[in-house]
Amino acid sequence: METLTDAKVPFLSPSGRRRFLKTLALTAVGGWAWSPGTAAAKIAPGSRIMTVRGEIAARRMGFALPHEHLMSTFGAASSELPRYDEVRLTAQVLPYLKRVKSLGCRIIFDCTAAYFGRDPRLLKAFSERSGLHLVTNTGYYGAADDRYVPVFVASESPSEIAARWLDEWRNGIGGTDIRPGFVKLAVDGGDLSDTDAKLIRAGALAHRASGLTLAVHTGNNPQAAYQQLAILDEEDVDPTAWIWVHAHAVEKSEDLLPAAQRGAWLSFDGLQLPDQGNDPVKKHLTLLTEMKRRGFFHQVLLSHDGNSFTSEGRLRPYDALFTALLPDLRSNGFTDREIRTLTVDNPARAFSIRVREKAQ
Ligand SMILES: [Zn+2]
Repeated sequence: METLTDAKVPFLSPSGRRRFLKTLALTAVGGWAWSPGTAAAKIAPGSRIMTVRGEIAARRMGFALPHEHLMSTFGAASSELPRYDEVRLTAQVLPYLKRVKSLGCRIIFDCTAAYFGRDPRLLKAFSERSGLHLVTNTGYYGAADDRYVPVFVASESPSEIAARWLDEWRNGIGGTDIRPGFVKLAVDGGDLSDTDAKLIRAGALAHRASGLTLAVHTGNNPQAAYQQLAILDEEDVDPTAWIWVHAHAVEKSEDLLPAAQRGAWLSFDGLQLPDQGNDPVKKHLTLLTEMKRRGFFHQVLLSHDGNSFTSEGRLRPYDALFTALLPDLRSNGFTDREIRTLTVDNPARAFSIRVREKAQ
């Protein structure tokens, strides 16, 4: 296990690094609160994260990327087991992981779902060889007009579908001992379809039985977000168990507020370097600043939705957070403590395995 003083925090000045390490040490020693008013935003003692190599303490997980894809077959035909050229894939992905680790990353949540490229066995090998913690998922991807939803979903009930995911949670995925660390779901545009609604309800049931967080690809579809929250409500699941994935894509940031006010997580996960007049870094900084002003800073997650091995062969990098956003945050007055909240504590709290029942 890595010691605290081994933790690389390259985004900090030397004095900032000392303060950061002191903060880490205080947090590890016991229950230190940031300040009055943020006590609820602490990582609860005993919280656990499930990685592909087993459970770790949420307080020890370090700098996180909560929404990336190490690899996927997205765009190709759906298949339960991906067929990768492992030699080529490893030659591409492993050096990239090492680079991201050298920038300060400690844990990546891999959001590639079953049926479009999830490969827990490869993830475990990459975790061992890179030294990064990696987390895989259970659940089905209901966006892309259901092309990655397995056929049996049509005839099964939400509880039957949830039972499949809970089997992976309890017994491991596909005959391995590798367990999922969250439930990954996705919904199509427009109102929730029957299939989308069924998968969200199955997710709520799986959450209640496992404590796994639900990360749902929703994007610029506030109506579908609220419909999902209504289903969670019917199943007595608190919105703090739910992540609005691709929340940065909404047209009007006010549309995020009804979900944020109820405690939902907002995943701003479209970070890429500026390109042809499009500046995602600036957009994320603006959204982040607004959420801070509105008091939802402790519910924001930051990531890239990157992909280091796609079916088209085009890499979507996941390092702009380190190379572009962090320097911008610092020059815009974000403190080391706030940066730590965003990149370490918020993801640790979001993915801690705990049943979150609706407050009665
Ligand atoms: Zn994604």
